[in-house]
Amino acid sequence: MKRVVLALGGNALGDNLHEQMIAVKIAAKAIADLIEEGYEIIITHGNGPQVGMINLAMETATKVDNSLFYIPMSVCVAMSQGYIGYDIQNALREELLSRNINKPVATIITQTIVDKNDPAFNNPTKPIGAFYTKEEANEMSKRGYDMTEDAGRGYRRVVASPKPIGIVESETIRTLVESGHVPITVGGGGIPVRVTDVRHLKGTSAVVDKDFASAKLAEELNADMLVILTAVEQVAINFGKENQKWISKMSVEDAKNYIKEGHFAPGSMLPKVEAALTFVESGLNRKALITMLEKAKDGLAGKTGTVICS
Ligand code: ADP
Ligand code: MG
Repeated sequence: MKRVVLALGGNALGDNLHEQMIAVKIAAKAIADLIEEGYEIIITHGNGPQVGMINLAMETATKVDNSLFYIPMSVCVAMSQGYIGYDIQNALREELLSRNINKPVATIITQTIVDKNDPAFNNPTKPIGAFYTKEEANEMSKRGYDMTEDAGRGYRRVVASPKPIGIVESETIRTLVESGHVPITVGGGGIPVRVTDVRHLKGTSAVVDKDFASAKLAEELNADMLVILTAVEQVAINFGKENQKWISKMSVEDAKNYIKEGHFAPGSMLPKVEAALTFVESGLNRKALITMLEKAKDGLAGKTGTVICS
């Protein structure tokens, strides 16, 4: 049986509560198709809009009532895993039952270990949460937050996006998969934690890229394939230009050359191709596929998408 880590992108979840409810129903159908085909599926997902919404709600509440405690980013990620996981597990359970497939689905609140010396901590790049005035931003800087001007819309907090070095709950996930369950895990890249001593994991103010976290999980679970589902059916070179060309298959070497030539936009396609490469290079016979949700089944059958392999 093929073990597949399936990473859901932004469009599988929508931008708000209502959109998410509809989007997960569509995603559930596509995932159930793969389960019916006999793949062992581990679901992972992003949390950009959702963690932004939760962070904004929490920051707004603390602005109004200063007796409330500040809610750290790690807790916001945990909340987003719970809320997104709830919607996915509910929709997928219903879809599987309607097909008479008896497979339990459950969300695992998942922690991702990051290195406190990761250079990303010296260069926070990921804007999150509420917009502030210049004066408010200055106040927040004094309190130790990293603030940046965000595309003319105001000032926002920025957090680091360190690389995942381990998934704390991977043994639990492995056990679930091996006993026929469908786990939903590393939501939003996992709750970023650092190891402070042998036993203690401390939540850290960061957001791990969900594609890198999914690649790390796929590596730890010894998966056969990492499937990254996004808004495009295939990866292109010369994307958006006249000489744009869709790519069906890339070797590790091709992918590295395309990265050097600047074909993949940072913050969108670049981290996906880089995550695919980390997984493919982590062991023998490991493949990655980038395609869209609606094409997942055809992609796994080798009919479409972009495959990255050694
Ligand atoms: P997600 O939210 O699904 O994780 P993003 O929206 O951040 O992913 O990134 C996917 C997007 O990357 C595509 O919708 C496409 O617009 C963009 N993109 C940038 N460069 C390329 C490329 N070379 N080939 C295909 N898509 C690309
Ligand atoms: Mg997106």
